[in-house]
Amino acid sequence: MKILVLNCGSSSIKYQFIDVDKCYVLSKGMVSRIGMSGAVLVHKPHDRPEVTISGEMLDHIQAIEHVIAMLLSPNHGVIRDKSEIEAVGHRVVHGGERFPHSVLIDQEVMQVLRSCIQLAPLHNPHNIRGINACKQILAGVPQVAVFDTAFHQKMPPYAYIYGIPYVLYKRYGIRRYGFHGPSHFYVSHRAAKMMNRPIERLKMITCHLGNGASMAAIKGGISVDTSMGFTPLEGLLMGTRSGDLDPAIILHIMAREELSLHEANTLLNKHSGLQGISGISGDMRDIIGEAQKGNSFAQLALDVYCYRIRKYIGAYAAVLGGVDALIFTAGIGENSSLIRKKSCENLEFLGLKIDEQKNQKASSKQAMEIQSEDSKTKVFCIPTNEELVIALETKRVIREAKEKQKMLKGV
Ligand code: ADP
Repeated sequence: MKILVLNCGSSSIKYQFIDVDKCYVLSKGMVSRIGMSGAVLVHKPHDRPEVTISGEMLDHIQAIEHVIAMLLSPNHGVIRDKSEIEAVGHRVVHGGERFPHSVLIDQEVMQVLRSCIQLAPLHNPHNIRGINACKQILAGVPQVAVFDTAFHQKMPPYAYIYGIPYVLYKRYGIRRYGFHGPSHFYVSHRAAKMMNRPIERLKMITCHLGNGASMAAIKGGISVDTSMGFTPLEGLLMGTRSGDLDPAIILHIMAREELSLHEANTLLNKHSGLQGISGISGDMRDIIGEAQKGNSFAQLALDVYCYRIRKYIGAYAAVLGGVDALIFTAGIGENSSLIRKKSCENLEFLGLKIDEQKNQKASSKQAMEIQSEDSKTKVFCIPTNEELVIALETKRVIREAKEKQKMLKGV
């Protein structure tokens, strides 16, 4: 089964076209600057060099039309006919409490997705735009929504309830949801496989360190706590997001700087984190580079970043009652031996020690263990593969829906 996996943002769409039975990526790419001047599509077929085209792509419909034209292109494509796209799997950021698992998209689901916009106003509208565009361009092709939040839906109430009046949870759904679900799911299962042990018996801590960053405590394959909360703003320090902070700070800054709600939101999401502390950049490569040159603000941002990861490792080891495996993934987790090393400093009391030689060798090219011989806890660097999880989920949901239909016909 060949599945188009889409991750639709406000002005960008990341895509992969996957032969899910072979777990093989036939082509992948990204459209950026949708709705702006000079939109760009970068497309990489599995067996030929990358191509870049630019042109006018005013909205998600035009962008997805260009993606499909690329898949069909005699020079750069991988299919001959549109009908070879058997399904579309969408990354949808927020599924609220209504969707603890992936769903086949129909009118009723769309209605609930729209009601989730208030929970994720920065993300869900664009995901919905992508779904509507596919409905138009690929009429009749089944579409599945795979939620960032779903993997964390089995957290116990004491992990997801905040210390505010309970009525606000009931009234507005204010609780911890957690994000990056497909990534935490993928790397925890991959690590269990590498350990040759059933995931049901393992206690794991996963660190997804990309531009957005979150950690999860995973017991027996179930996420029992995670660092992102009601929105993807809570928890670790991120590229431009603050992560944890005293909520009174926000009220204080809003009063002192006379900020509107919108301005406060922008401050916390776009001008904080590594960017905010360093005043240089939200990109970890820049921060490491500047810190190495002796910039003390970059060094401070780096120190806060790793200190917070270490703090969460300690907290989650307590939550889990021990830890069998610690896993690093995503852009920073896969590529920065420095961040992995600094985040694991002084954790010998947990039986966790990194082998620096192995750590230096690890990269986004392959999954590997990086703990020292005498470390009781395994430490992994594993390239994430959220798109594969979305493709596999899409296939599963479609298959289940077909079986259900068959059963109903038989009745
Ligand atoms: P996104 O959340 O947008 O998917 P990624 O997972 O691609 O983000 O991660 C982007 C981050 O990874 C950036 O901060 C980038 O600087 C960082 N990164 C990529 N390569 C390296 C590297 N070799 N060393 C340190 N950081 C890196």
